[in-house]
Amino acid sequence: MAALSGGGSLSIRHAGKIYDPEGSNIVALQDVSLETAAGEFCVVVGPSGCGKTTLLNSIAGFDQLTSGEIRIDNEMISSPGKQLQPGADRMVVFQHGALFPWKTVLWNVSCGPIRQGRLQRHEAEAQSRELLARVGLNGIENQFPGSLSGGMKRRVEIVRALINNPKILLLDEPFRALDALTKSVVQEFLLELYDLAPKTVFFITHDVEEAVFLADKIVVMTTRPGRVLKTVVVDLPRPRDYHILTSPRFLEIEREVRASIEAEARKAFEAGERELA
Ligand code: ADP
Ligand code: MG
Repeated sequence: MAALSGGGSLSIRHAGKIYDPEGSNIVALQDVSLETAAGEFCVVVGPSGCGKTTLLNSIAGFDQLTSGEIRIDNEMISSPGKQLQPGADRMVVFQHGALFPWKTVLWNVSCGPIRQGRLQRHEAEAQSRELLARVGLNGIENQFPGSLSGGMKRRVEIVRALINNPKILLLDEPFRALDALTKSVVQEFLLELYDLAPKTVFFITHDVEEAVFLADKIVVMTTRPGRVLKTVVVDLPRPRDYHILTSPRFLEIEREVRASIEAEARKAFEAGERELA
């Protein structure tokens, strides 16, 4: 499908981020390096406040690094002093979404490529309908976002991001607010779109089961200052569906990731307690 061609490689080298260096001096990221191959599904997990959103915002071009660099297909995207340049090559899906409530689903999904002049209206609308149907949403084109359930909105937002044909799809805890059943349905639809044409995905969650289900590679971050604690390769076959959740290999990887993230969360808790004492 033309709307879903392959993704770009992501290279993060020695990324550091300090908020308010003159004042509270919060070190959010410290020497973070990671490489994601084109088309790889990379999931980042880590305790709350460890810098995951900061890292995603730096890739998206919303936030500036204080050291290090980020490249996509070897092109410099972010480094200290470089002007912020968010672009359609990096589309972001947020936890709380960003659909225009007064516009129809079809308008919301098709507006990006039309506005960029990349597609004619009829082409953009045809692709929108096709992608919406892929995620089980045919027939909702003329509805307004307010009439959709949370799970439907998330699917519309993912389709809206993908139709821009980004090199990288960035998702910041997109399914956090969904109930367990809805979440599993939306995860499967995301994997279906991914399997159609693997695209580089940078996905943040602190749900370990979600991470293992989706990822090719899981990056576990430490408590703040956020560093890479370990990288776990998820060698489970694709396509994946929910049967895989109970396979021995799935459970083994899940245990490994959970053990490291829980050790980090405990450290954060203990550090917090000392601060209070
Ligand atoms: P996560 O997404 O892993 O929960 P964040 O990247 O949101 O973590 O935040 C990392 C750390 O940086 C936290 O301690 C947070 O309070 C701090 N932080 C985030 N944004 C800002 C900001 N704009 N100014 C100051 N501190 C910030
Ligand atoms: Mg966050």
